[in-house]
Amino acid sequence: MRFMLPRQSKGAAVQQNDPHITLITPTAPMSPATHGGRAKCLQRLVRLELPVPVTVALSFDAVHGLAAGDWLDMEQMLTPFGEDQLLCVRPSSEDPDWGGPGAILNIGMNDVQLARLSAEIGAEAASKLYLKFIQSYSTHVARLDPDIFDDLDTKDADAVSDFLEAYESEAEEPFPQSRSEQLIGVLRSMARAWEGTTARLLRQAKGAPADAGLGLVIQAMALGVGHGESGSGVLQLVDGGTGVPQITGRYMSQSQGRDALKSGAAAMFLQNDARGPSLEEKLPDAFAKLTEHAALMRAKLREEMQCEFTLENGEIRILDGVRVQRSARAAVRIAVALAEDKIISREEAVMRVEPRALNELLHRQVDSTAERDVIGTGIAASPGAATGKIVFTAAEAQACDARGEACILVRRETNPEDIRGMHAAVAALTERGGMTSHAAVIGRGLGLPCVVGATSMRFQVNKRRIVAPDGRVFHEGDVITVDGTNGQVLAGQPKMMEAALDDAFQVLMSWADESRDIGVRANADTSADARTALTFQAEGIGLCRTEHMFFEADQLIAMREVIFANAPADRSVALQALLPMQRDMFVDLFEIMQGRPVCIRLFDPPLHEFLPTDRAGLRDLAESLNLPLSDVTRRVQALGEYNPMLGLRGVRLGITVPEILDMQARAIFEATLDASKTSDPVVPEIMIPLVSAKREVELVKTRIDAVAAAVRTERGRDFDYRLGVMVETPRAALRAEDIAPHCSFFSFGTNDLTQMTYGLSRDDAGRFMSTYVQQGVFPEDPFHTLDQEGVGELLRVGAERGRSAQPKLTLSVCGEHGGSPESIAFCREIGLDYVSCSPFRVPVARLAAAQLAIRDKIQ
Ligand code: PEP
Ligand code: MG
Repeated sequence: MRFMLPRQSKGAAVQQNDPHITLITPTAPMSPATHGGRAKCLQRLVRLELPVPVTVALSFDAVHGLAAGDWLDMEQMLTPFGEDQLLCVRPSSEDPDWGGPGAILNIGMNDVQLARLSAEIGAEAASKLYLKFIQSYSTHVARLDPDIFDDLDTKDADAVSDFLEAYESEAEEPFPQSRSEQLIGVLRSMARAWEGTTARLLRQAKGAPADAGLGLVIQAMALGVGHGESGSGVLQLVDGGTGVPQITGRYMSQSQGRDALKSGAAAMFLQNDARGPSLEEKLPDAFAKLTEHAALMRAKLREEMQCEFTLENGEIRILDGVRVQRSARAAVRIAVALAEDKIISREEAVMRVEPRALNELLHRQVDSTAERDVIGTGIAASPGAATGKIVFTAAEAQACDARGEACILVRRETNPEDIRGMHAAVAALTERGGMTSHAAVIGRGLGLPCVVGATSMRFQVNKRRIVAPDGRVFHEGDVITVDGTNGQVLAGQPKMMEAALDDAFQVLMSWADESRDIGVRANADTSADARTALTFQAEGIGLCRTEHMFFEADQLIAMREVIFANAPADRSVALQALLPMQRDMFVDLFEIMQGRPVCIRLFDPPLHEFLPTDRAGLRDLAESLNLPLSDVTRRVQALGEYNPMLGLRGVRLGITVPEILDMQARAIFEATLDASKTSDPVVPEIMIPLVSAKREVELVKTRIDAVAAAVRTERGRDFDYRLGVMVETPRAALRAEDIAPHCSFFSFGTNDLTQMTYGLSRDDAGRFMSTYVQQGVFPEDPFHTLDQEGVGELLRVGAERGRSAQPKLTLSVCGEHGGSPESIAFCREIGLDYVSCSPFRVPVARLAAAQLAIRDKIQ
């Protein structure tokens, strides 16, 4: 049934209790959910006894009915306003960020009002109001082409009749003279605009539900034009970019609405300013009063508000209050300042900052005001932005770095050999790959901006160039910018905004930790990663991928000798060379982490990842091993696998080539004793990758125990260690009950687990993931947001079965999902002890985890 508004008798006392046409008084029943955020905010301003003009609010239901063609009691709506009162209408959606149709001012202007106001405020000011209204009515209500007034001069003595004529000839009817008719036209057109498809899609993109309602507020116009000092402006107490206290805004004489903000040099500053005249100089009392009002709004509305005001012959009117638009860094500073001023609690301050927005503080970004010349798009794999010259190989990146030049490493995809190039580059760009591809994982670990899967561009690596979709060609040496926050590639060097790990950030994070009830560790492979992890106050290292160490130049040669050794004895000799290097790196990690737990994963990747793929590399290798090229080529080919990610890697290598595992265990234990000399005893955690059967754990455990016993005897000192399993095959999760009794912890490797659960290659999924998400096959990229229904079910089963066999089992996630707020919620729900993520995501995870705990407490 169509909505029908009840008829009511006249009078403010009745209207303030009308649920649909509500006069805003301190006690009228209204809420953001029935009349929208703007209406509710205006009621709060009325309660503060601020000089707000008379306002009537229409409910969501009333506006919905209007859009459907229902009747609305005009008389009731207009009773609170005087006969001659001009009106304005503004939208009032539940969340002001969802937007709505633009305000329409000066409703009620007609020939009679023109004559009356001309006598009162002067002919020029009066006709200006009328002209403005004719224009906005004809565009927004009559839906006429705005250019019908293009040839007319607003300064002309006959401007009003010219405008009315233009309207009449286009609309084929006279311009409405009745205020009621004008008002109902405005209200209905706004109601219908809100229900249109474009508006709905726009607000849904901002998080609004499909059926979000719109309220409308009808307010008596405070003219801002006329005698004495009249004008309008906006004022706020903080800078929206930095959050630093600073009276900000503009005022303009003889203006309305937000004209002052649009008019550039014609507007005045608010506070005394060397750049030009200010309201403070011109009208010190009004300025003082306005700042007082704004401070009251801040204290009572518990938020930094922008106040929209009008001066009418020197009299202040407060028309509206809106939440100050702010950058992420300003959001942090504002929340902390409100809590420090005891306006909100610390917990509320923590709740007010969107965790993902912290990325904007942790990395350099393209300035929000910069022009963007986008030449390609891909997956935003690692946030932050950097500018540099294009290079196509890791060696060139290193050469550039050595010359002190910033470079962007452009590859079809990266592989472990590119790590040194990634260290040397300021950003990486790849044609292939998804959120957990090599470039993405390493990029996030290093805090290196990274765009992967940039399939909109053509990568002509052999010709050393990339081609933008519009045909522009960028060669080696050309300067581009990679924006890993938005997944864009930009030509040239836009203006940048520096990272801001300031005092406010630190304070907010310390408050977050007071509430957090799930641990946050970092995935860290190198000393530099560990230092970053410590800076971001990770509680330990949840995953050290040891193979990344092997890609250091000296270790790589030794590793290749291990691979090419013909007999176990030869292999042992080569491994002896690796042992001290590995040990030193572990000592570093233990010392940097100062007693916090460090979880070291045993060697994981297939061996052939350490071997060259091109002819030049093979030749170099033959030379360094002193072997014929044909031998080397044959051995490299023989190590190739059809499905390396499902082949001889992880624990399978530990069982078939156990010498590597022995060497790593020894390096860990010797480092444990060395690092324990200078501090409390270190208890290392050793993690076995890619387990799928209990026997694998038994075999590895026996070997590691033997190494531990040998080191204890040789050194004459005792130590403890914890052995755990990386649960990253579906079978390990399903058989958790068999596996758990042999270990002290499980860490879910959700990257591989997602890959194996879906049967979806993490390196190739990027090619079609956007199509899959667009067509709704997957709600999100499961490598990015944990698939709770499928992969999550395996986590739940693995956790339950593991804990039932071994109640003290420590449980965690160390896949990339560990840093995503939605996945953390799930991890908390299934009782995991901690999440581990790239160091740069640690603050995001800490804040997200704290918000979940606070939300649970207040619900
Ligand atoms: C995983 O598989 O989730 C994981 C953390 O290990 P990697 O990404 O090194 O395979
Ligand atoms: Mg894995």
